[in-house]
Amino acid sequence: MPITEVNIVRSCGECGTEIETVTTKKDNMMLFSKEQVWCPQCQADRPEVRDLAGRRYSIEKEQQSYPKAVPAKPFPNQPSELSKG
Ligand SMILES: [Zn+2]
Repeated sequence: MPITEVNIVRSCGECGTEIETVTTKKDNMMLFSKEQVWCPQCQADRPEVRDLAGRRYSIEKEQQSYPKAVPAKPFPNQPSELSKG
C-alpha cells in the first residue's frame, strides 16, 4: 500500500520548539515554507521549520531490509609500507 499521507512536524526556526504535527498529502508536502508560526517559547512569530515526523523510524526500517554490508577489503597487492621512505 503506497503511503499517501505524511506527518510533518512544524517547529520554531529560532529555538526549535515543536509547535505541532500536521498530516498532509505526500503530493502536497512542502518542507520549505516561508510561513511564520507563533512560538509559545519565544512568544513571537518565527519562521517555521518543517521536518518529516518519524523519519528516523522509517530509515531504520529501511536499513533492516538492506543486505548486510560487506566490509571493504584493502587492496591485497598494495604494499603497506608505501608511505615510508
Ligand atoms: Zn521559538
